[in-house]
Amino acid sequence: MLFATAINPPNQHRPGPKVMSQAVPGTGLNFASVVLDVPLLRAFDFILPDAQPEDVGRLVVVPFGNKKVVGLLVSVSESSPVAKDKLRAVEAVRRDLPALNTEILAVMRFCEGYYHAPLGQIVMSVIPPLLRNAARALKTIHADDHGAVPANVRRLSITPQGRDAISTLPARSATQRSVLECLLGESMLEGELRRRHPRAGVAIKTLLEKSWLEIEEVALTTAQQAAQRPIAARAFAPGPTLNSEQQTAVDSINSAHAQYRAFLLDGITGSGKTEVYLRAIAHTIDQGQQALVLVPEINLTPALLKHIRQRFPNHHIAPAHSGMAAGARLTAWRAAQEGVADIVVGTRLAIFTPMPRLGLIIVDEEHDQSFKQQEGVRYSARDVAVFRASTAGCPVVLGSATPSIETLDNAARGRFARLALTKRAIENAELPQVSFIHLDSEKAPDGLTQSLIRAIEQTILRGEQAMVFINRRGFAPALVCGSCAWMPECNRCSARMVYHRAANKMKCHHCGAESRAPQVCDDCGAADLHPAGQGSQRIEVALQAALPTARITRVDRDATRRRGAAEKIFTAAASGEIDVLVGTQMLAKGHDFAKLTLVCVVNADGAVFSADFRAAERMAQQMTQVAGRAGRAQLPGRVIIQTRFPEHAVYQAVASHNYPQFVAATLAERQIMNLPPYSYLALLRAEARDVEKLDAFLTAAQTSGRRIVAEHQLDGINVWEPVASTLARKAGYSRKQLMVRSDRRATLQQFLTVWLEGVRAENIRTAKWAIDVDPIEV
Ligand code: ADP
Ligand code: ZN
Ligand code: ZN
Repeated sequence: MLFATAINPPNQHRPGPKVMSQAVPGTGLNFASVVLDVPLLRAFDFILPDAQPEDVGRLVVVPFGNKKVVGLLVSVSESSPVAKDKLRAVEAVRRDLPALNTEILAVMRFCEGYYHAPLGQIVMSVIPPLLRNAARALKTIHADDHGAVPANVRRLSITPQGRDAISTLPARSATQRSVLECLLGESMLEGELRRRHPRAGVAIKTLLEKSWLEIEEVALTTAQQAAQRPIAARAFAPGPTLNSEQQTAVDSINSAHAQYRAFLLDGITGSGKTEVYLRAIAHTIDQGQQALVLVPEINLTPALLKHIRQRFPNHHIAPAHSGMAAGARLTAWRAAQEGVADIVVGTRLAIFTPMPRLGLIIVDEEHDQSFKQQEGVRYSARDVAVFRASTAGCPVVLGSATPSIETLDNAARGRFARLALTKRAIENAELPQVSFIHLDSEKAPDGLTQSLIRAIEQTILRGEQAMVFINRRGFAPALVCGSCAWMPECNRCSARMVYHRAANKMKCHHCGAESRAPQVCDDCGAADLHPAGQGSQRIEVALQAALPTARITRVDRDATRRRGAAEKIFTAAASGEIDVLVGTQMLAKGHDFAKLTLVCVVNADGAVFSADFRAAERMAQQMTQVAGRAGRAQLPGRVIIQTRFPEHAVYQAVASHNYPQFVAATLAERQIMNLPPYSYLALLRAEARDVEKLDAFLTAAQTSGRRIVAEHQLDGINVWEPVASTLARKAGYSRKQLMVRSDRRATLQQFLTVWLEGVRAENIRTAKWAIDVDPIEV
C-alpha cells in the first residue's frame, strides 16, 4: 500500500472512467474512490452499488483495516482497476448532508497540489470534528430523515395540531413555542426561521416529529431567496460617515462585486479599516451573497466580531474556529454550507468553510503569523484565500497596518490593488509619539527602569491607562546558579526551563514538561538560584510592588487559559476597571481602548539577534501594532521602548511611523540575498529519536534532490545542506531541516512533485517528516 504512489502519479487521483451525467435507476456506477485521513497521496476504491454522480463531494463511512472511518468520496465510476473481490463496500454515504460543492473541492485540490498534502488529510483536518466520527455518522444516517434538503429550500408551516398545541407547551419548551408563534401568520423558509432563531434546529426537528409543523420543498433561485426575507430583517445598523479614503476603498471593493480581484487595504492603526470591511460586507449581503471574514485569533480580536454583530443584528453570523464546542462548530458549518449564514467569521481553518453564495473574503491583519498552519497540513490561509477568491470569482481584501513583505510585493507588481488609509479615522486622533529609554544608561532591576515606572504612574494619575508589552510569559526565562552558572534545562528539548514563580514550577514552553522549581543547584549543590531575565509575571510583580495602588492585570496564555478569561479582561479594561495591562503579544492585536495613552515595550531586543531572516519583519509588525494601541481616540498617545539598540532599523521605523521605509530597506536586502519574495522556498522538516537515522534520511533526501535537479535540468534551484532546526531537540526528538530555494515558483513545484514521491518511498519508518511550502519560520 505504501508504494501505491509509484503506481498513481502524485497529486492526481486514479482517473477512472468518466462519470455518467444522467442518474437513472441503476446508474451503472458501482465504484467509488474515497480519500482518507492517511498520509498518502491517493484515493482508495470501494464498491458502491448505484452510486450517484451527486455523491461526489459527500462524506462516506468505509471500512479501513479493522476500523470504520470517514472519508470523502471524490469520484464514482463503472469499474475499478482493482479486482472486485479485493474491494470492500462503502458502509454509508452521508446523503443527509449537502456534498462539498465544486468550488470548495477545487480549493482543497489546490492545497493538495500546492502544499503537497494528501487531500484526505486536508478535508479531515478542516471539517468539524463531529463529522469525522464514523460511529456518529452511522448513527445519524440511520436516524435522519428530512435532513436531505438544504434549509433554504424547505418551507415550514404550522399544522392545525401545532396551532392547538401552542397553549399546552410547558415553559421549558420556549424555543418550540417561539418557532410555532413565528409561523402562526405565514409559512417560512427554514433558512429564514433559523436566521431569526439561530438555535431552533432541534426544536424544528422535534416539532416535525410531532407533526406540529409540516415541510414543503420549494426550489428558489438565490435572488428569490434573498427577496423572501422581510425588509426589516435585511436592515443594517447605521455606521459613521466615511472619510474620503474609506469611501474610495469601499467603492473599489464593491465595484469588483462578482469578479475576482485582490485588494490590499493598507491602513495605519486606527484608520478605520473595520468600517471598510463592514461596508463591503453589507454590499455583499445586499447582493444576496455570503461574506467570509478571517481573523488571526478570535479570542484576541473580539472587537471585529463585536462590530459585525452590532452592524448586522438581523443577520445570521456563523463563527468558525477550533476553540468552539463540537456541537456549535457543526451547527455553524451547516448554516454556512446551507446558505443560511450571511457571514462566517473565523480563524485560519474557516477558509475551508463551504459557502454556496460566497461573494467576499476578508483577511484582517493579513500579516499575522497565525494564518499559517504550522502542523499537519501546512497551509497559509491568507494565500488560500486569494486562490479561493479567484476560483469563486469574488473580491478578496487583505487588510493590515503592517502588511507582509510578500503582500506589499504583490501590490507593487500590480497583482493586488492597493487601497491606502493614511490618517486616523477619529478626528484629532494622532499617531503616538515614540521615545526610547536606553538600557545602557539606566538600570532596569526586575526589567523596569525608574523613568518607565514614573511614566506609568503619571498616566494612571491622569486617569488614563497604560499597557506594558513583554515578549515572554512566565516569571523568568531561566533560573541560574549564582556560584556555578548552572541553569535547569528540559530533558526532552534543547531549551531552558522557564521559571513560573506563582506555581513554583519550571515549565518547558516547547513540550509542556513541568517540574518543581529546584531549591539547590543540581550541579554544585549551592542554594543560590536566581531568576535570570524577565517574563510577564515578573514584570507584573515588579510593577505592582512599585505602584501598590495601581490596578494591574496580566494578559498572557497562562492568565487566560480558561474559556472566556481573555474577553473578561478586555471588557474590564474597556470599561476602565484596569489601570495597567501587562502582557505578551496577546496585547498587540486589534484592541481599541479609548483611555489607553501609554504603551511600554520592555524587552523586545531578542529578535535583533535571530537567525531567521523574517525576524526583523515580524518585530517591525509587532512593534507597530503594539504602538498602534496608544492614543486611538481623543487623548494623545505615547510609546516608550526600553532597549539596548535604539538605533536598530526596526525601532527607528516604529519611531518615525515609517513602516514603508523599513519594508523598502528589507526588500532591498532580500533581493541581494535572493530570499522571498525574490525566490521561493520549501523546507523539508524531519525529526527522529535516533540522530543517525535522521541524518541518513536527510542526506538521502538531499542526494536525491540534487540528482533530480541535474537529471531534469532544473534551472535556478538549490538544495541546501541539512541543518539543525532552531529548536534542535523537542520532546525527545532530534530535529533537522533541508531547504530548497528556487527562482521560480513553477520550477519549485515541478521539483517537489518528483522529489517528494521519492522521499515518501524512502521514508518508511526512518524519520517523521513534513514539507513546508512557503515556510514563514526557518
Ligand atoms: P483600524 O482597524 O484601522 O486600526 P478601526 O477600524 O478600529 O481602525 O477604527 C478606529 C476608530 O475609528 C474606531 O473607534 C472607529 O469606530 C472609528 N472610525 C472609523 N471610521 C470612522 C469614520 N468614518 N468616522 C468616525 N470614526 C470612525
Ligand atoms: Zn551551581
Ligand atoms: Zn521540553
